[in-house]
Amino acid sequence: MRPERLNDLFKEVQTLDGVGPKLLRPLEKLGLTRLRDLAYHLPDRFVERRAVPDLDAATVGENIIVAVTVREHRQSGGRGPFRVMAEDALGNSLAITYFGRASYSAKKLLPTGTKRWVAGRLDQYGQQLQMVHPDHVAENSAMLSGQACEPVYALSEGLTQPRVAGFVAQALAQLPDLPEWIEPGLFDRMKWPGWQEALRSAHAAPHAEARDRLAYDELLANSLALMLVRASNRSQSGTPLTGDGHLRDKLQLPFALTGAQKRSIAEIEGDMAQSAPMLRLLQGDVGSGKTVVALSAMLIAVEAGAQAAMLAPTEILARQHHATLMQMAAGTGVEIALLTGRDKGRARESVLMGLLDGSIDLVVGTHAIFQDTVSYRNLALVVIDEQHRFGVGQRLMLARKGRRPPHTLAMTATPIPRTLTLAQYGEMDVSKLDELPPGRQAIDTAVISMERVPEVVERLAAQIAEGRQAYWVCPMVHEHETEDIAAAEARFAALKERFGADVVLVHGQMKPEDKDAAMERFSGGQAKLLVATTVIEVGVDVPNATLMVIEQAERFGLAQLHQLRGRVGRGSAKSVCLLLRSDALSETAKRRLALMRETQDGFRLAEEDLELRGGGELLGTRQSGDTPFNVASLEQIQRLLPLAHDDARLLIERDGGLEGSRGEAARLLLYLFERDWGVQLLRGG
Ligand code: ADP
Ligand code: MG
Repeated sequence: MRPERLNDLFKEVQTLDGVGPKLLRPLEKLGLTRLRDLAYHLPDRFVERRAVPDLDAATVGENIIVAVTVREHRQSGGRGPFRVMAEDALGNSLAITYFGRASYSAKKLLPTGTKRWVAGRLDQYGQQLQMVHPDHVAENSAMLSGQACEPVYALSEGLTQPRVAGFVAQALAQLPDLPEWIEPGLFDRMKWPGWQEALRSAHAAPHAEARDRLAYDELLANSLALMLVRASNRSQSGTPLTGDGHLRDKLQLPFALTGAQKRSIAEIEGDMAQSAPMLRLLQGDVGSGKTVVALSAMLIAVEAGAQAAMLAPTEILARQHHATLMQMAAGTGVEIALLTGRDKGRARESVLMGLLDGSIDLVVGTHAIFQDTVSYRNLALVVIDEQHRFGVGQRLMLARKGRRPPHTLAMTATPIPRTLTLAQYGEMDVSKLDELPPGRQAIDTAVISMERVPEVVERLAAQIAEGRQAYWVCPMVHEHETEDIAAAEARFAALKERFGADVVLVHGQMKPEDKDAAMERFSGGQAKLLVATTVIEVGVDVPNATLMVIEQAERFGLAQLHQLRGRVGRGSAKSVCLLLRSDALSETAKRRLALMRETQDGFRLAEEDLELRGGGELLGTRQSGDTPFNVASLEQIQRLLPLAHDDARLLIERDGGLEGSRGEAARLLLYLFERDWGVQLLRGG
């Protein structure tokens, strides 16, 4: 139960003045549903603007406040912009321009013949001076005083800066008094403000100490929660599993294990023999051979008379893993089943029976394998593939499935830098597959301009003529999924004209059956070219594919590009990756693409990507997209996470039950950042 003193913070935004039903959706889009969210909706930046007597005193590009007289309203075309034509004190013309629905309110704010003060960025459109969507329109200059340094918030359609600022102010007015949870020595050394003051300052002006303190809070909450998971796991007793090797001996692998694979298997074997449940992450680049490590772990469980389950993030991957495991384990006599949300009726019933009576040893599937209706006779090992797709909360749910907490092996192919590993998987022990199986050829990577698409198509034709297969990945921008799909469909249509039935398309909005059918045609070799959005990102294994084309490569993260590139170079033939780039690229974007050409080491790419993105970051801009954080930026994660981690460890060592006065404060922190599963473990254990 959440402590009462946080109740005000978790009140719904509807309780604020001015938040009616119409604004709920726009607020929700920004993740703002409770006062707490508003308090932590920190400004993206601040604008400083200058009051000028007339437009002659201003420069284009500057943020200004100026008085104008409204002359005329102009609506150009049906969907064109709405322009309010106005004049400054010298008779200079200013077009105040609105797009879309904003024009309705513009008519009311700026009636013809009236004098108004407008605040915003002065632009030029041809010869015409203009101001697009002013930040403020006021009837007198006094209403704009005190706005010289103003926060700029992330918005969604239907919201304006003043509105959001007003809601934030209301939320800040209701901040409760909370005890300090930061270690006193650190708090003094950093000269950080207290929690309340930090929130208020961070909204008022660019205030580095305040932002750091708030970021640190979030990092500390995360580290604490992960450490509580770890401590609680240690205190539990699971089933020690020792295998005699009789099944692993029957594995007929067409290759010898790499040193890294042997080492990882030994580490896993050691963990599984303990009664404290294993909590281990297997980190290994695409193609490093995680599947056979997972299979070995599962066979240990079966040798010891127990069952194992493998969770995959998608239907396609579950099917592929099932097929691979069936093949690898063919000689062992182990019973392997597949269970996904799409299995219904008799087939499903028979799998459920088999899991219950123990006749099935291994099951592979999507989250369907952990639904309430699924019971196991003796589940003792859970393998989670592509761990980053699942949160810690979900993982804890899985752990409740066995009679005793099962051993957990999590796997990820996303090579993330060490600091982020700590942030995301701080509760786990890590095994690293840092050695690729021998005989892999380097993948030639080239960065080329989009204009050369025709050449790329010729290259593709040559590959296909040689009996090879290829991928063509279309760009993906999450805010506009429909547009992405449209782009992928257009590319597909164009390539289909050239290659006919050899081309298949896979994207995120297709029906699962259609997606699987297309994937099967490609992996079966009937289709030669797979056009896709990033749905092929994880796990797909088609060794005959030797060409990867990625459109607008600059839009992808390096980790993602690396994973995509890893789809080729899986067989013995020479493979090529072509990164198609747009023309206007920032220096950072160029550098990032160049790195892709320089190295194929995923861990190095991850470290350098963090460096490039983190370093180029402005104060407080949150680009922490693929981290579990909303407040802390990449740069802050790098700088402050190690501190938070050590601090959390010390606190747990001294006061594992969080019962002392600092412990009490830390509990509040966990609730504040909704890591309360950490606290719940305290109660349970
Ligand atoms: P990951 O899941 O880590 O991306 P996989 O387990 O799919 O990688 O393995 C990639 C490919 O490498 C598979 O075709 C697999 O059979 C092969 N492979 C795995 N281990 C070895 C090894 N030690 N030597 C040669 N090939 C291997
Ligand atoms: Mg894999």
